[in-house]
Amino acid sequence: MEKGLDILGLTPIELDSELEAHFQKRGQPKYRAHQVREWIFDGLALGFGDMTNLPVKERHALAGPFVMEEPVVASIARSKDGTVKHLWHLRDGELVESVLIPTEDRLTLCISSQAGCGMGCTFCATGFGGLRRNLTSAEIVAQYRASQRWAFDEGKGRIGNIVFMGMGEPLANRKGLFPALTILNQGYGVGARRITVSTVGLVPGILDLAERPEQFRLALSLHAPTSELRRTLIPLEDRYSLAEVLGALRVFDEAGGKRITFEYTLINGVNDHEHLAPQLADLAAGLQAFVNLIPFNPIPYQDWEPSPPDRVRTFAKAIEERGVPVAVREPRGRDIDAACGQLRASAITEEEPQADAGVT
Ligand code: SF4
Repeated sequence: MEKGLDILGLTPIELDSELEAHFQKRGQPKYRAHQVREWIFDGLALGFGDMTNLPVKERHALAGPFVMEEPVVASIARSKDGTVKHLWHLRDGELVESVLIPTEDRLTLCISSQAGCGMGCTFCATGFGGLRRNLTSAEIVAQYRASQRWAFDEGKGRIGNIVFMGMGEPLANRKGLFPALTILNQGYGVGARRITVSTVGLVPGILDLAERPEQFRLALSLHAPTSELRRTLIPLEDRYSLAEVLGALRVFDEAGGKRITFEYTLINGVNDHEHLAPQLADLAAGLQAFVNLIPFNPIPYQDWEPSPPDRVRTFAKAIEERGVPVAVREPRGRDIDAACGQLRASAITEEEPQADAGVT
């Protein structure tokens, strides 16, 4: 039997039109579509059965032409710093993760856009496992819904920011990402400036994002200010050189009002040499980008270590002295492996060490 339309992956306009057509066919008033829409976006309903202001018959009639699937919790890990990581089972058994990061004034959700990742960055646990598949827009949005519901139940309030920094390269899955951005923004009311898409430098994706009218933010996962060094960390350098990536960022910047952040993971003795800091600062200055320095989070397949605090301080100071705004990001959730892809990496290392962890 053909599967129904995944209702969580429809943009508000698509949802209205699908629901209106559905209820019209059934001789139901137009406001039924509005009721369902409210249950989805405001009520965070788990299923059609929750939509209690619809007649029972109409709730049943939605299941068939439509499906509403949420991921199932595989595990929840709570860090002593308040960070909470959910590992989700998707319907086909794939595992993806999302992380809730509370700070003093806001709750940020980090979500995944792919199961695994094909970019192969050498500092990232997810990169070692390879790409398993793209997530659908519904699967991306469902991570937000399930996380928000969990946060409400736990008294942690509303998610204020969303960052696409979980598993996967979001711009390699624009088919899932772009509708998800629209849905999160227009449906769930998360401001575009509060949604950050993080990329390792997929040029066509950056250019596509620049064309969107909303002011979604972009973070470039840079980690190296020269092509030579970048090649050792991010194999994508061979497809899209640093110069090409910077060119795409200029287009993004010129599209107006769209802030760019550089993410730079500091790995001891690899990319934290003092002479690299001014080079990084110059790249950032050209784009009025903000620099986030992140001490490396060790991963199972590399013996690299995070830069020691005094080296991080020296690096940050050299950037600051060139007038570029910089912050050292406090590593969050280290005790629960909350860096990119690590929870899943630990899980597959235990369950399926060779085939899926990419370790030979
Ligand atoms: S850093 Fe991001 S793009 Fe690179 S392998 Fe990890 S998930 Fe993929």
